[in-house]
Amino acid sequence: LPSHSDIAPPPDDPGAFLAAQRSAYDDLVARGLKFDLTRGKPGPEQLDLSEALLTLPTTHTSGGVDVRNYGGLEGLLGLRELFAELFGVQVSQFVAQGNASLTLMKDVLVDCMLKGPVDGTPWKDQGPIKFLCPVPGYDRHHALLEWLGIDMVPVPMQADGPDVAAVEALVKDDPSIKGMWLVPTYANPSGSVTEADKAARLAAMPTAASDFKILWDNAYGLHHLTEVETKTADIISLAAANGHPDRPIMFASTSKITFAGAGVSFLAASERNVQWYLKHLGMGSIGPDKVNHLRHLEFFKDADGVRAHMRKHAAIIKPKFDAVQEVLSTRLGAYPQIATWTEPIGGYFVSLDVLPGTASRVVQLAKEAGVALTPAGASFPYGNDPQDTNIRLAPTFPSLEEVRVAMEAVATCVLLAAAEKLAG
Ligand code: PMP
Repeated sequence: LPSHSDIAPPPDDPGAFLAAQRSAYDDLVARGLKFDLTRGKPGPEQLDLSEALLTLPTTHTSGGVDVRNYGGLEGLLGLRELFAELFGVQVSQFVAQGNASLTLMKDVLVDCMLKGPVDGTPWKDQGPIKFLCPVPGYDRHHALLEWLGIDMVPVPMQADGPDVAAVEALVKDDPSIKGMWLVPTYANPSGSVTEADKAARLAAMPTAASDFKILWDNAYGLHHLTEVETKTADIISLAAANGHPDRPIMFASTSKITFAGAGVSFLAASERNVQWYLKHLGMGSIGPDKVNHLRHLEFFKDADGVRAHMRKHAAIIKPKFDAVQEVLSTRLGAYPQIATWTEPIGGYFVSLDVLPGTASRVVQLAKEAGVALTPAGASFPYGNDPQDTNIRLAPTFPSLEEVRVAMEAVATCVLLAAAEKLAG
């Protein structure tokens, strides 16, 4: 697309700026695009990397277990050993289950509500309770809490993890704050990585609620985009060392490693938490899909097999992330007052902050130009971005060329929305 953005932005000449952006937008609409940047899904090429799974496993026994039969609620040992190594936790603290880690998160919260956590009484009996939510964050975390009637208190997400001082101040006196979400590595959508010092403070901080939980959603712990293989802080050991062994519960899955619809999910926590979890799980299952566990074990063979596989994913999606950076820098780099964005080194998202008060307008303009973006505010509790500034970009699913064209379109919409606002 031609760049119409080389006129200096307001306050120099808001009228000319607006006219230039309108004209660029009209050109864009005339192109009749149709793109979807809404969800962080692996693209078809990424799914093809795991195609061999469709012809595995080659046997039906593993470690003397007939995987076709009932049993083994905690998941297949060989697969647990492999992924426990990757996530740096003890096998005895590590469970493998079905395809969606979101289900395990829901299980844990429902169990806490109805039965009480391992170190507390049922949350449903304790009046209104709250969770802290680093923002921007993952919309389904918020939806789950809202569904359970758990109030959400936003805390800022920073480049090196959540604003821990804010968290410490909130949790120390308020026993109704029962926990917090955290995506520690390459967070959705900010790409933030929670540094070890912040993790240590979260593990050690005094909380008024004696059964405070950190739901440590390590969905992107292995999803590096560069040669930097960021190591996730070891929250389980940190919490144990600080006298709060039952505080963290970690989640992960192979949704963005093998098949998003047919992978394996994981839960890791203190052995006491794991036994608590399995006791409740046993009310609804006699065992997980161990055939799928064995299929994954045969496919990867060992931890290095997973690491090599993740480098293949990076080779496919890194150019898409590069294209996002390139287009945003070219089109919006001259306007830091209008747009800033993250440069993640892993995960699935770029978080774009536009001129406050214009994010919804940008999404609407993009929609009218044929580009579907995640709804403005989606990354905030109750869908409410108080500044109306944040937009989550998910570049993995479209092709590289589509990402480029779609990002050009987004840039045009960002500039028009800003120009409208600045022109009053
Ligand atoms: N957690 C986060 C932070 C995610 O971004 C996603 C996927 N978008 C999930 C969990 C979902 O994981 P699963 O497929 O294992 O349910």
